[in-house]
Amino acid sequence: MKKLLKGLRQFKSNYFSTHQELFEQLSHGQKPRVLFITCSDSRIDPNLITNAEVGELFVIRNAGNIIPPFGAANGGEGAAVEYAVQALGVEHIIVCGHSHCGAMKGLLKRSSLEDEMPLVYEWLRHAEATRQLLKENYTHLEGETLLEVAVAENVLTQIENLRTYPVIHSKLYRNKLHLHAWIYHIETGEVLEYDSIRHDFVTPDENAMLEAYPVQCVLSLPEDVEDLLPGHRQSQTQPEVAEAERDVMMPWLSSDQVARIRSGSNGRR
Ligand SMILES: [Zn+2]
Repeated sequence: MKKLLKGLRQFKSNYFSTHQELFEQLSHGQKPRVLFITCSDSRIDPNLITNAEVGELFVIRNAGNIIPPFGAANGGEGAAVEYAVQALGVEHIIVCGHSHCGAMKGLLKRSSLEDEMPLVYEWLRHAEATRQLLKENYTHLEGETLLEVAVAENVLTQIENLRTYPVIHSKLYRNKLHLHAWIYHIETGEVLEYDSIRHDFVTPDENAMLEAYPVQCVLSLPEDVEDLLPGHRQSQTQPEVAEAERDVMMPWLSSDQVARIRSGSNGRR
């Protein structure tokens, strides 16, 4: 605790005193462009890993970077999402999972948590779609490998949960909001982003498409009507991913994707 109190003094005399103008500006209001959703894990620092300034990220943190689907829980997550999207007008939402996530380890043995940590057990209910998917589609994986896939699948599950929010659904329709699924590797400092066309996690600057997580809802309106829609997207058709490129044992993740996920923790071996 002493260390933190000393830190408070140092912050005031160092960082604050050299950024007074910024703090004066921020005292009048915030205008973050990004809602950053990540795990409570102490090893992640959203501002540090993105080199973002104070006031640039609106942050939601909890065990497992979970956002319950709309109406499924009366917690703070939904309210914070709604506020960020509607009142602050954020343009990007990032769900950032991470390697060695304790919450995901818990999810993989959820039933054993019921007695010891009933609140965690209950909370992980909102990642049940992830658990079910793993249980039925990744029976051939175990240990660290299964955990890495759990982290990856969970950020995608939470992206789907975000889509259930009316404010998000509506902004996606107008192309005013972009959803991003990230994985942060603690041991390498690397961040990978999901590319839904390639079904792969790639480095964010690797693909121009990463500007926006493509909207999967495909409208089939006549062309002339589509042209009249606000924020009309020129092409909503996603190219087919060659079946051969996918690992048939992992319909959702490609083998390349799994290799990339693994490279975070195993790449140095
Ligand atoms: Zn975690």
